[in-house]
Amino acid sequence: MEQNLRDASKKRPYDSIKPAKKFTNYIEYDFSKIKDSKGGFMPDDDTTQLSNGMTLEEWKQKQQRIVIEPQRAINPDDNPKCFECQSFDLDFEFFKVFGCTVCRACKTKFPEKYSLLTKTECREDYLLTDPELRDKELMPHLERPNPHKTTYNNMMLYLRYQVEEFAFKKWGGEEGLDKEFERRVALRKEKKDRKFADKLKQMRKRTRTETWNKRLDRAEHRHNWGPEARLPNKSIAIRKCTECAMEIEEIIF
Ligand SMILES: [Zn+2]
Ligand SMILES: [Zn+2]
Repeated sequence: MEQNLRDASKKRPYDSIKPAKKFTNYIEYDFSKIKDSKGGFMPDDDTTQLSNGMTLEEWKQKQQRIVIEPQRAINPDDNPKCFECQSFDLDFEFFKVFGCTVCRACKTKFPEKYSLLTKTECREDYLLTDPELRDKELMPHLERPNPHKTTYNNMMLYLRYQVEEFAFKKWGGEEGLDKEFERRVALRKEKKDRKFADKLKQMRKRTRTETWNKRLDRAEHRHNWGPEARLPNKSIAIRKCTECAMEIEEIIF
């Protein structure tokens, strides 16, 4: 029997080909509902959303997960140490995601280095592009459920000193970044000014036409009919007022 089923020369009709019984009863997993804890514990549900009065900064600070410590080396000196204070009490999620060796205490002590930035902040303050920020190799980042709405895209969080390092390299130091920032602000203002000037011009033009029309209305002038223009083969002529451009038809007898 097994032999016959695999034999293509038998040419069974397609509707007799059925999936093996053991596969028809599989469990359907909804992968969108399974949380990937990436080796850490999930935060309480109420820390994934912005609760009453919580600022984005406060939310960012709560996005701390306890990541299980990797196995210790036999020789304690071989374990990674905090870059700031040499302690072994590393933040393992930072180590895993950012390759950054810092302890919890130093992380909060030096927010100018170790605070987290959102994608929008990276884009607007450091002028990084979406493709750069999506690239995990180039710009490592944590992902967290969006605190504003669960149906939104995941929030991507970046380590501040890494973002600065990258942006300074990209723009030629802090001064380069500042210059580019100012250039863009000026460009935006110029564009806005130009748009405003255009609008003003349009408005003036419209006002001029309106006043002109109004003046004609008020004047109630006697039309000053120009020469007649006869239509070919017709006993009708058209005359145009030389002042207001009104046209009349005249029947020629
Ligand atoms: Zn430290
Ligand atoms: Zn007229």
